[in-house]
Amino acid sequence: MSDSETFSALILRETENGRYRPAFEQLGLDDLPEGDVLVAVEYSSLNYKDGLAITGKGRIVRKLPLIPGIDLAGRVMESTAAAFAPGDPVLLTGYGVGEEHCGGYAQRARLWSEWLVPMPNGLDSRRAMAIGTAGFTAMLCIMALEDGGITPDRGPVVVTGAAGGVGSLAVMLLARLGYEVAAVTGRPETHDFLRDLGASEMIDRETMSAAARALETQRWAGAVDTVGSTTLARVLAETMMDGTVTACGLAGGADLPATVMPFILRGVRLQGISSVQTGMSRRRAAWDRLAMELPLDKLDALITEVPLSSILEQGENILAGRIRGRTVVDVNR
Ligand code: NDP
Repeated sequence: MSDSETFSALILRETENGRYRPAFEQLGLDDLPEGDVLVAVEYSSLNYKDGLAITGKGRIVRKLPLIPGIDLAGRVMESTAAAFAPGDPVLLTGYGVGEEHCGGYAQRARLWSEWLVPMPNGLDSRRAMAIGTAGFTAMLCIMALEDGGITPDRGPVVVTGAAGGVGSLAVMLLARLGYEVAAVTGRPETHDFLRDLGASEMIDRETMSAAARALETQRWAGAVDTVGSTTLARVLAETMMDGTVTACGLAGGADLPATVMPFILRGVRLQGISSVQTGMSRRRAAWDRLAMELPLDKLDALITEVPLSSILEQGENILAGRIRGRTVVDVNR
């Protein structure tokens, strides 16, 4: 691509009232921020955070104008970094891309090489984006459960927001690793889908979000919680002696109306998960495991592919809880 050529992108531009609005535009390479690698983006994905960014409903966007899209995968076009050469397949999640540095909802991205992960063997751009931040976060939760000593023989693991992106990939991975998985969902129509992914028990979202006593009957060796609020409080109250609960999301609320009793009487560990700034060695280890351990046929069944031109509508859908599995975005359509 010569410097004078243009590419299509979704860009968020400031409006007079201090807010911003999304627009599809043809941009030039000069419109991209600084970086040492230029990537021809093939696919991006849709995460909850992307929904917040493109609808303006959450405080995700920290710089304007901005191309949103927190995930991207494609091929290196130009590089002044020794680690990457033209043609290399790469992926990226996090590091503030799509929040304060232009991201994946465009045919081109200029990035810093230290943020890029070489495409792991066995994955391509589309599958990497089917995993995306959601799957990477699910794997970080599982690694944290393992760090907490939670092996399949310790007992069942509960996943909340199970039919969403992080949840469905967590269910699939845990089942693949031999854990007994209970899935909490507010959508009964996803039960067959969740059973296919490997969940053996379905729990209604309302049951799990009902206010809990300080301690409830011990049910879970571990948990992957994407919901927060009263759901996370109940998960903690139901966690077994020396269990580990990983908290990565707030789909049900950012509050945590809990007591310390599970911690001081049952030794429960609450491990926060933040995927954005995960260091490169743990990041690569997580991606290598994702490439090795995810059943690719099941991963493919999770994918809904959409063109970039439909992303505004998809952003509304993810915030309304209407997305099942993972939405992969073809930025060339
Ligand atoms: P999705 O929208 O795909 O999934 C969220 C799921 O949560 C929904 O599918 C739904 O599951 C459930 N849900 C939605 N609204 C409510 C509600 N009001 N009460 C209870 N459950 C609800 O989003 P993602 O999977 O991409 O992200 C999930 C959460 O994790 C988000 O809060 C996101 O911000 C966070 N996240 C955090 C990361 C980190 O680094 N810490 C990285 C990635 C995501 P169901 O229909 O099955 O009930």
